[in-house]
Amino acid sequence: MKWYLPDAAWVDGELRRDVGVLVAGETIVSVGAVDERLGDVERLHRRLLLPGIVNAHSHAFQRALRGHVQHASGEDSFWSWRERMYALATALDPEAIEAVSTLAFAEMVRAGFTTVGEFHYLHHQPDGTPYADPDELARRVAHAAQKVGLRIVLLRVAYARAGFRVDANLRQRRFIDRDPTAVLAAVSRLRGHGIVAGLAPHSVRAVPREWLQAFADFDGVVHAHVDEQPGEIEQCLAEHGRRPVHVFAEAGLVHERFTAVHLTHPDDTEIAAMRGHVCACPTTELDLGDGFLPAWKLGVPVCLGSDSHAAIDPFAEMRAIEWHSRALLGRRNVLPHEGPDGLASGLLRMGTENGARSLGVNAGRLAPGALADFVTVDVSRLEFAASRLLPAVVFNGSPAAISDAWVGGRHVLKDGRVPGAERFAHEAEAALRRLGLAA
Ligand SMILES: [Zn+2]
Repeated sequence: MKWYLPDAAWVDGELRRDVGVLVAGETIVSVGAVDERLGDVERLHRRLLLPGIVNAHSHAFQRALRGHVQHASGEDSFWSWRERMYALATALDPEAIEAVSTLAFAEMVRAGFTTVGEFHYLHHQPDGTPYADPDELARRVAHAAQKVGLRIVLLRVAYARAGFRVDANLRQRRFIDRDPTAVLAAVSRLRGHGIVAGLAPHSVRAVPREWLQAFADFDGVVHAHVDEQPGEIEQCLAEHGRRPVHVFAEAGLVHERFTAVHLTHPDDTEIAAMRGHVCACPTTELDLGDGFLPAWKLGVPVCLGSDSHAAIDPFAEMRAIEWHSRALLGRRNVLPHEGPDGLASGLLRMGTENGARSLGVNAGRLAPGALADFVTVDVSRLEFAASRLLPAVVFNGSPAAISDAWVGGRHVLKDGRVPGAERFAHEAEAALRRLGLAA
């Protein structure tokens, strides 16, 4: 067993000094005063120890759009961005999907993420034909996470159609399964391969009522895009006569294991009906011009995701949800406060414990029995000097301030470096060049 002894650690919502974390194998077994009889001590000088940060919503392949969608090309919106994303999704082959996913996951580890919930909807060949191994792409994405030591929960997406009374879009053929039974069978196969898998009915736009009902007895976590765009809510009202949260609820899916991703445009009845978690993706929602969720009104815990990877920066997500709420309300310090560091602790909990719970992973806390997923912040950096530490880390932190990360006790980020990162970057660039997708 081994003790990790930082200058300070964030434990039970409080910054504590002279507290060590004792690890045995993959698990934290004790948090408290160091007892050298129980294990060797690794002193973490000038370091703040935080639980590993959880990225509860990711589409790793979209990392390949980085820098390519930041200039005007007519009337740009979420829907025009989606056409660019579909062109990419159609063009990528299995090797490129693995290479780009590995790059995205390496960047996540660099930024302090230790778990990702990968909302995975690329299933088949571009013409819709299954691969010889029907789980080829999901397994490649899971393998990409393993290569960088990132914990992954594969949220296997169910996708049935382009939309209610919307003509089939040929560029969605890779996403579409025959029926809900095929989706559930895929989740079972992934679990059989040792991959932690949940279920993700994509949205009310892409999944009809009968499919949702068929998922009601699913035994794992369920994530879905909800209320992201006003246009999809209008379609939903036309088809079902009610709004998206109520459609999911009627199908029996709004429960403690449910996560509504985005929830950008809910009405008060939907907010009241919510259970489980809401996953906000602030940098992506700002990047896409989606609008912004009324986070201050929610009655369920919020977790955070980097979604399209316009940015991979957990501190940017934590700040943006609070700052954008301030801009909308014309007030300051509006989201939930917890403990002596109030707002900073509340935002950090969104990025850690809430995300882990949303994904069904026993992590996100420095506590006995939790997985040994944690990161260190270099508190000797200039941006933290002469400050109150925890709020400064949340409101001024960046990926560069993360020095080390451990996932299941394994040291995956070492002094700011992900082993193999240069090679992963090179492989992703080469794969995109080969497909004519590089700039
Ligand atoms: Zn998404």
